[in-house]
Amino acid sequence: MHYSAVDRTAWEARIRMPNDSTDSYASCRFLVVDDEEVVRRVVVRVLGKLGCETVSTAASGLDALTQMDAIAAAAEAGPDLILCDLNMPEMDGVEFLRHLATREYRGGIVLISAEDERVLETARNLAKARALNVLGAIPKPVTPATLSKVLAAYSGRVSAEARPQGELISVEEVRAGLEADEFEPFFQPKVGLPDGHVVGAEALVRWRRGDRLIPPGLFISTAEEGGLIDALTDQVFGKAMDVAGAWRRAGFDLKVSVNVSVDSLTDYSLPDRFAERAVQAGVDPTRVMVEVTESRLAQEVAAALETLTRFRLKRIGLSIDDFGTGYSSMVQLKQVPFVELKIDRAFVHDAHRDRHSLAILESSVGLAKRLGLSTVAEGVENQDDWDQVAAVGCDQIQGYFVARPMAADAFLEWLIEWERGLEATPD
Ligand code: C2E
Ligand code: MG
Ligand code: MG
Repeated sequence: MHYSAVDRTAWEARIRMPNDSTDSYASCRFLVVDDEEVVRRVVVRVLGKLGCETVSTAASGLDALTQMDAIAAAAEAGPDLILCDLNMPEMDGVEFLRHLATREYRGGIVLISAEDERVLETARNLAKARALNVLGAIPKPVTPATLSKVLAAYSGRVSAEARPQGELISVEEVRAGLEADEFEPFFQPKVGLPDGHVVGAEALVRWRRGDRLIPPGLFISTAEEGGLIDALTDQVFGKAMDVAGAWRRAGFDLKVSVNVSVDSLTDYSLPDRFAERAVQAGVDPTRVMVEVTESRLAQEVAAALETLTRFRLKRIGLSIDDFGTGYSSMVQLKQVPFVELKIDRAFVHDAHRDRHSLAILESSVGLAKRLGLSTVAEGVENQDDWDQVAAVGCDQIQGYFVARPMAADAFLEWLIEWERGLEATPD
């Protein structure tokens, strides 16, 4: 059956999509300027994790200026924040900054570079001398932690409500949030191909703070740095299992995936705790999947290996998350007993019109198949994405095109409507 036959608009009208308003940067327009495609992808992905939705890219300073001139000519608003590499062929970052100054660019600038600290510092001073608003300079590789720190300093044209809240969240606040039991999982469906039936859900933590929902990008690294990540994982996992148990009793036997920080993998008791908590909630551990992000795994794989193996001994599944964005994927695939591979959104969304993404998507699926892993395409945002991942033989799909992450109750309502929609649709 083809997904397009499903009347999507109808159920969107019936079910009020929950406001996953985790979008503190959502109203901000970002422009990423870097000659290396892989760096642009990583930065776009990190921005995505921080809730930034409007991100354009340029492969050179000239390309960026051309784009900005076209926007200005159309009397549209230009970027609020430019993330710019210093070392680029043709027009380097320093020259690019000069052009920004002559255009009286008033937005924020973040310098990104593999150059040493002193070069970055000099470039920063130079930009300041030209009255440009430089928020900071960050070394490569760009990580959510370094990027969110400089973004938190951003006080440019973003309105007060939309201003990033990253700077406001301290370890103490996360601790208080944990004590007040304010962290809860939202659930995003994973559907199987080709039929589109819901096979599972990924639990994604949200911090319900008063009437605000804070996205994980704004507090996970604080929790990790403050040694609170294990407590957070337990709070989210426990609630996710209770929900999964309730779904099971309601007749929906879904696989539930949870995200585990690499920092938690040094805790050897985690697999036992997870297995016990699952059983306590009435969930078979084989219906639980642990997602670990590849880019971080790279550095700490030795310490994590024992815990990862013990998860498998407890019959809990292991999934390699954000595949394709890390640095030594192949080694980990060989060492760790993964059963699922999640291909990062960077290689899924728009893959049909980007031959590099498509090449990575195809070879990831091929690799997974040869290793006997099932594949999930993340970040499927439209019909073209759906068709493309189906064509390359992905097993499952996750993305906004199916649904955004939802609170537990809304998820069940959504699920019933979705499955009803599939039944009503002729093959
Ligand atoms: P992830 O595990 O890769 O989760 C997927 C992220 O992509 C989620 O962001 C999800 O809302 C978003 N997403 C899903 N479909 C689409 C789409 O079609 N388009 C776009 N643009 N985005 C999509 P979220 O919920 O903000 O989570 C961000 C990251 O935070 C997660 O990435 C995961 O690494 C981490 N995280 C989430 N929950 C937990 C948790 O309980 N513990 C830990 N340690 N990390 C967590
Ligand atoms: Mg995940
Ligand atoms: Mg992912």
